[in-house]
Amino acid sequence: MTEKVFIIGGMSCAACSASVERVTKRIDGVTSCSVNLTTSKMNVEFDGTDETQEKIISAVEKAGFTIRQEQKEKVETLKTDKKGSSKAPIVASFVLCGLLLYVSMGTMMIEGLPLPSFLNPDQYPYNFAIIQMLLTIPIMFIGRKFFINGFRSLFLLHPNMDSLVAIGSSASFIYSLYIVFSIPFSHHHIAHELYFESAAVVLTFIMLGKFLENRNKEKTKDTIKKLMSLSPDTAVIVKDNKETTVKTSELKIDDIVVIKPGAKIPTDCVVIKGESSVDESMLTGESIPVNKANGDNLTGGSLNCDGILYAKVTHIGEDTTLHKIIKIVEDAQGKKAPIAKIADKVAGVFVPTVIAIAIVTAIVWIIVSGDTSLTLKAFVSVLVIACPCALGLATPTAIMVGTGLGASNGILIKSGEALERANNTKVIVFDKTGTLTKGKMTVDNVFCNIDKEEFISISASIESLSEHPVAIAVCEYSNENNIEYKNDFAEFKNISGKGLYALGYNGDEYYCGNKRLLDENGIYTDEFESQAKKILLEGKTIVYLSKNGKALGIISISDTLRDEAKEVVSKLKTMNIKTVMLTGDNNSSAEYIGKQLGVDKIYSQVLPSEKADVVESLKSEGTVMMVGDGINDSPALATADIGAAVSNGSDVAIESADIVLMNSDLNCVLKSVILSKLTIRNIKQNLFWAFLYNCIGIPIAAGVLYPIFGILLNPMYAGVAMSLSSVCVVGNALRLRTKKLIKKG
Ligand code: ADP
Ligand code: MG
Repeated sequence: MTEKVFIIGGMSCAACSASVERVTKRIDGVTSCSVNLTTSKMNVEFDGTDETQEKIISAVEKAGFTIRQEQKEKVETLKTDKKGSSKAPIVASFVLCGLLLYVSMGTMMIEGLPLPSFLNPDQYPYNFAIIQMLLTIPIMFIGRKFFINGFRSLFLLHPNMDSLVAIGSSASFIYSLYIVFSIPFSHHHIAHELYFESAAVVLTFIMLGKFLENRNKEKTKDTIKKLMSLSPDTAVIVKDNKETTVKTSELKIDDIVVIKPGAKIPTDCVVIKGESSVDESMLTGESIPVNKANGDNLTGGSLNCDGILYAKVTHIGEDTTLHKIIKIVEDAQGKKAPIAKIADKVAGVFVPTVIAIAIVTAIVWIIVSGDTSLTLKAFVSVLVIACPCALGLATPTAIMVGTGLGASNGILIKSGEALERANNTKVIVFDKTGTLTKGKMTVDNVFCNIDKEEFISISASIESLSEHPVAIAVCEYSNENNIEYKNDFAEFKNISGKGLYALGYNGDEYYCGNKRLLDENGIYTDEFESQAKKILLEGKTIVYLSKNGKALGIISISDTLRDEAKEVVSKLKTMNIKTVMLTGDNNSSAEYIGKQLGVDKIYSQVLPSEKADVVESLKSEGTVMMVGDGINDSPALATADIGAAVSNGSDVAIESADIVLMNSDLNCVLKSVILSKLTIRNIKQNLFWAFLYNCIGIPIAAGVLYPIFGILLNPMYAGVAMSLSSVCVVGNALRLRTKKLIKKG
């Protein structure tokens, strides 16, 4: 299976995206396909053969759309892609339309308005009619796209919103032409039956609506644009003691760049000289600047605050963190949330249904009233008021804004689906080390029955081969005390969730890990039992070291809770979310920390391989979110309904996660649930509005109110209503942008 992204051209509404999706799904070899109207992207999962790909392309083209495969460097191109629609045609249509309305209705509505006598409808009906026709034709020319696109789709049997507009306005135009030709053979008053203005006004308003909608849709892409603008265009490199300015895109790995105060970090690099604080808030949402010095990683796009930094380039182009973030946000915005399915289904049959309703309406009207003018009004109004766009835009726009808002808060959501699922989170499982705690462990005591220095030297030698937070603490302690790592090993094994095994060249066997590890290998630890008890009661972790089956000593290691952990846990409780702590650490230490935080349930001494089973079993209680560091928690993250990985800032492409938290502040967990709730509520509002609008609008346009209240919609108002409905939907989605995910304080 391969997944490819195609760019689809010529889609104007949800009916278009639905038909592209339909024709693609029908092809053998295609497993899934989702088309996003807002981004014009189609994600297809298929067998990957050229044959199938050709079939996809020809099917989409046959349906009346253009299709091309997404270019790899599209992220760069988007940057310069200023696709803002121009205002001029709309202004021109409005002017022409105003004149037309003045001529056609002005004198009827307001008495005494001057109208040149040669245009008097009763004396010179021909002039009156022809001038209106001449004013209408240019407007139709300006809006020709609707006719070309609409009729083409209609004839290809995939009618879309443009088809509705095209049929509606052509009907009024052709009817009016017929009137013009009948003037010589008819009574003079026939000129009052012209309907040119309705064709013109409908087109003008729909163009305005589309313009506003596009402008707003562009705004929903703001986050991506903002992210892309983070990377500076140029960088200063040092070569042979000379500074030269080069384009960021020309940087190469191992180039040395200078970053002056106030400048943006051009690409991912590692500090080799200098010290400064760096503002990474645009990438992580964390507002406090971070201190950077020799050996620290810098992320391209962040801002150097006060010092000068010299750094060596480590990643360029597509491998940079910023690029990966952009890719994740873009991908998420292109994918659909399951909630969009209902709207898609409706959109697929919407246009043919509306055409049918319009025809039935016309037949009923002509039979019941016999009045062509009323019949035409109702027919055109039904076609024009119906708005599949509002349905189609309801979910993707909210998802775009929602994922964008997430990104600016340091929450990268990988799919609309994950965003939707998070809305129902019932249980949140936290990994302990590095998630609830700072993960920065420190050694605070050592008890041993051999020389202390030697004991530490052996421990550190073994631990230097591991990257576990416990191991890092031991090595740091040894470094601080200037103790050398004297031992080399012939063999070394990492026993996941328990510790390490090492075999010296002289045959000495060492175990370094938790009590379970030693117990399982039949090593007595009774000698250290009383100290161990005390340490455990304080909620600390113990590392045991044994040599050739005999315990040598223990190291007590402590970790500190994150400052916000307790508050976040209690806030989650008020949201009726159950909190669970999951750890490989010993029971008493887990108990101690769990109690402090007030979590609902604690699972301790769980092996990494068992973590996924615990998550699986919790699923019976509802949607489960797992928050972990993404390294040894991968299976658990993947098992959970929503896997949220806490990233260390540069590692954003965590495969097994649905959500990547760009900073380890636990409030992000809370924020992602709130974000999901806000977004889903917004989508529901949008869908509700779009359905309600069409359900009420279409019958009114058809004239159901006429027999009782005498209300029959003028096609002109139908056009306005239609445009406003999609503008409203996009506008409502944009409202999300201003939301604060957590109130300060
Ligand atoms: P957590 O759920 O806290 O991330 P792990 O599954 O990574 O825990 O580890 C569980 C326990 O195994 C640790 O608390 C520690 O006691 C022990 N352990 C794991 N790796 C090591 C190591 N490299 N050195 C010593 N002890 C280790
Ligand atoms: Mg861990």
